[in-house]
Amino acid sequence: MLEELLINPISKIAKDNFKKFYFCNMQEFIDQLPKLTKDKHNENKKFFAKLKKKPPKKLDQIMQDLHEEEFRNTDCLQCANCCKTTGPLFTDKDVDRISKFLRIKSRQFEEQYLQTDEEGDLILQQTPCTFLGSDNYCSIYEVRPKACREYPHTDRKKFQQISNLTIKNIAICPAAYNIVEKMKSKLPL
Ligand code: SF4
Ligand code: SF4
Repeated sequence: MLEELLINPISKIAKDNFKKFYFCNMQEFIDQLPKLTKDKHNENKKFFAKLKKKPPKKLDQIMQDLHEEEFRNTDCLQCANCCKTTGPLFTDKDVDRISKFLRIKSRQFEEQYLQTDEEGDLILQQTPCTFLGSDNYCSIYEVRPKACREYPHTDRKKFQQISNLTIKNIAICPAAYNIVEKMKSKLPL
């Protein structure tokens, strides 16, 4: 990964960030993310607009590879920033599955842990997530919501269709931030 960033002349920005953050810990990186993302907002908007207009043929495979490479090197237990700062949407299937796991009725689960947002979606009553432990483990990991399993959606097919969501997620998720930086280096549009 380091080699790839250093040999690619287009990746100066990624290289600078990589050098800056390679030696500091996860929390420092997380703390810097909102500012880093803000600084790159216009650049990212332009990049995703071009991506949407003309997505490369092998985009799905490229995203799959970038995602897998990044998460091989990311320890989510050192981070948990998604669980601390944002919550998933709960589908009916999620509610049923988690209620069964907790051995309570779906209605009780909803009353105890969820609320309906202004768009009518079921969301957590609070953040950090109630199911997140102080050791960053999820107490319902085996049955966690689909949205948690898929976060930060960087291996999603037709990735160009979720650019607004991705621009939000890179302010929260260090792995998503790195994936987008590498993506820009790999796909100079
Ligand atoms: S359910 Fe688990 S994975 Fe999902 S936000 Fe809560 S702690 Fe995180
Ligand atoms: S998915 Fe992203 S934000 Fe969530 S714990 Fe892993 S690295 Fe952190």
